[in-house]
Amino acid sequence: MSYPRVEVDLNKLKHNVKTIVSRCNEKDIKVAGVTKGFCGDPKIAKVYVDGGVSFLADSRVENLKKLRNIDIPKILLRLPMLSEVEYVVQYADISLNSEIETIKALSKQALEFNKVHKIILMVDLGDLREGYFKEEEIYDAIEKIIKLEGVKLEGIGTNLTCHGGIIPRKDNTIRLIEIKQKVKENYNIDLEIISGGNSSSLHLVFNGEMPEGINQLRLGESLILGRETAFGGKIKDTFNDIFTLVVEAIELKEKPSIPIGEIGMDAFGNKPIFVDRGIRKRMISAIGKQDIDLENITPIDKDIIIIGGSSDHLILDVTDSKIDYSVGDKIRFKLDYGGILSTTTSEYVKTVYI
Ligand SMILES: *Cc1c(COP(=O)(O)O)cnc(C)c1O
Repeated sequence: MSYPRVEVDLNKLKHNVKTIVSRCNEKDIKVAGVTKGFCGDPKIAKVYVDGGVSFLADSRVENLKKLRNIDIPKILLRLPMLSEVEYVVQYADISLNSEIETIKALSKQALEFNKVHKIILMVDLGDLREGYFKEEEIYDAIEKIIKLEGVKLEGIGTNLTCHGGIIPRKDNTIRLIEIKQKVKENYNIDLEIISGGNSSSLHLVFNGEMPEGINQLRLGESLILGRETAFGGKIKDTFNDIFTLVVEAIELKEKPSIPIGEIGMDAFGNKPIFVDRGIRKRMISAIGKQDIDLENITPIDKDIIIIGGSSDHLILDVTDSKIDYSVGDKIRFKLDYGGILSTTTSEYVKTVYI
């Protein structure tokens, strides 16, 4: 069964990766290619590596496990669960951390496996997701980490824009460099990695405002969608149509725009609202809300209107299209980040590489 499918243009992806990686490398910043947007698909991750990323990174250990045969350092992005440290040490070389209890568990597990697991301590610069908010707590944690075996304090990092929408600027990002210097002065440790943020920090690289010393960015959305995410701008010389959803038409009929009878709740418990456009040519295609949120897709045929859908059906109005569609035709959609995530997660949507 090959529909619905997501087509992934690996050549365009490689171009995006090369373009963005080289602009980061020029500023002495290494890129960790973030694979969680496409569930750690190894074939796509391999293109990241061919395009020049220095690390692969994902928030889920299951995805890192899929990447185990690609020989490059791997980073776990989400703070480890205590219940998964065994797999974290097995499949990640580095993890982002903010709890000493978890770091102790990683240390114990790494010793058992005769490995050294690297730690990046997360600093909360105001976005209020993960990380140490009070600076003295960072130094407190460092004093404990240096006494542990099996783990190495590899660096510090931050994550912005994800929860609080805080925009990465020179003045907040530079705090990482100040902390790095204090760690050098107080503990004589040269932190290897200063991980400055995600795709929302790229604008600082492009406009020359990234503080010197930030030497890693963890990039997902910018690589797969060619988007800088602090302001949503398109990145020069990149593609935004790497992932395309293709679905198949299973019914085409002329019907009124408003259902006949008393309107109650739809399949999801909401009371639907309809716009009366008269009698319209409607298409049902074989994909549904189990696979995709309708807000995450845009028909490439601009004359198609998305009317709605249920778990397994997508209803389109094709009346205005210049194409006279028939049953069996394939309809193509652009996907946003959420759309790429959910279609690559759905076991009912096949991934095809072109
Ligand atoms: C998801 C994630 C990233 C990548 O974010 P993009 O906006 O896709 O670049 C980086 N760091 C952490 C901690 C993440 O969870």
